[in-house]
Amino acid sequence: MKIIVPANSVVEDTRIVLAPEHLPALTALGFEVWFESCTAPFPLSEYQQKGGKWTSDREALCHNAALVLSLGPLEEEILKRLPQHTRIIGLLRGAQEKERYKAYSLEAYALELLPRISRAQFIDVLSSQAALMGYWAIMQIAVHISKILPMMTTAAGTLPPAHVLVLGAGVAGLQAIGMGRRLGAKISACDVRSEVKEQVESLGGKFLHLPGVENAEGTGGYARSLTPQEQEAQQAFLKSLLPSYDAVICSALVPGSNAPILLTQEMLALCRPGTVIVDLATHLGHRGNCTFTEPGKIIKIKEITALGAFYPLSDLSRSASTLYGRNILALINLLWNSKMNCWIRPQDDPLLEAMCITK
Ligand code: NAD
Repeated sequence: MKIIVPANSVVEDTRIVLAPEHLPALTALGFEVWFESCTAPFPLSEYQQKGGKWTSDREALCHNAALVLSLGPLEEEILKRLPQHTRIIGLLRGAQEKERYKAYSLEAYALELLPRISRAQFIDVLSSQAALMGYWAIMQIAVHISKILPMMTTAAGTLPPAHVLVLGAGVAGLQAIGMGRRLGAKISACDVRSEVKEQVESLGGKFLHLPGVENAEGTGGYARSLTPQEQEAQQAFLKSLLPSYDAVICSALVPGSNAPILLTQEMLALCRPGTVIVDLATHLGHRGNCTFTEPGKIIKIKEITALGAFYPLSDLSRSASTLYGRNILALINLLWNSKMNCWIRPQDDPLLEAMCITK
């Protein structure tokens, strides 16, 4: 049985689906793993030592493929070369693009449709990647701020800790809070879902209630979009907060909608000189939480530095690929019945059923 890993079609994304450490487990299940030539974050020789095969010939890559592993949506060039009934796993943009996959006789699993429940945590790539993005965000602040993050007492006196505001305390925001606290920063956070309060406080952050927003929890545990009145109340609240902070991390998302606008250019006049703003919501190249950030750019507006993330995990490509691959291995173990040597049907497991976009 052949597993294939096509080269990533987004050049800015230098992660890879599998690290060398994942290959022995797949070989033990009876799979042979083929990679399309690309620049991987691990040496080729490490893959080859563990049985991985590389080719730049797409036809040969796709020939007899039983399972395709991908980071993002698959190109038509790959889809049309796959044998019938090949299985595909990746962040396929299942909700938007399922018709494209249905046009072929394939079984496609969109990882972003995995239910965010405890049983699914081990295959939740959104969480593993978002956690690393939270780490990346706080590291960007540490690099770009012209202050130290922790309080420091020296013979020359005491420096106060930097004060960081986290807007959106999902998986990435919570990781940023935890890491920021470990680095000694003082952290406050706000989110539109009130259940987040306990999580923020358990990490040592201060939760700020948004006045005028009761609890904006939508479906599946995600946030809903705010009403225009609620948005106005949020903007007024943020304006009152900005003068008290040295750095802001924006990581607010609403599934199926554009990222909510939290900070506008006119609000920058309220920021302390030297403030650093990191907008994680631009990470896939879309508009983020700020009207002034751009994916992949660091801009200076007066004395404010604003960074728009763009495939930020390329900076952590080894760690990100390692975690992504572990999630994928766990999913393969769910999908492949090693005792019977056969695939599990999507209807036989609720997690598979939720992710399968071609049934
Ligand atoms: P996300 O990336 O969709 O959104 C990030 C955060 O932005 C969320 O906390 C959201 O409430 C917040 N947000 C949206 N609009 C906002 C606004 N206007 N202002 C401020 N904040 C705003 O979220 P995520 O990190 O993918 O997590 C989504 C959900 O899944 C959460 O409920 C999380 O706890 C849950 N989850 C559960 C598990 C599990 O195993 N049980 C695992 C991972 C995530």
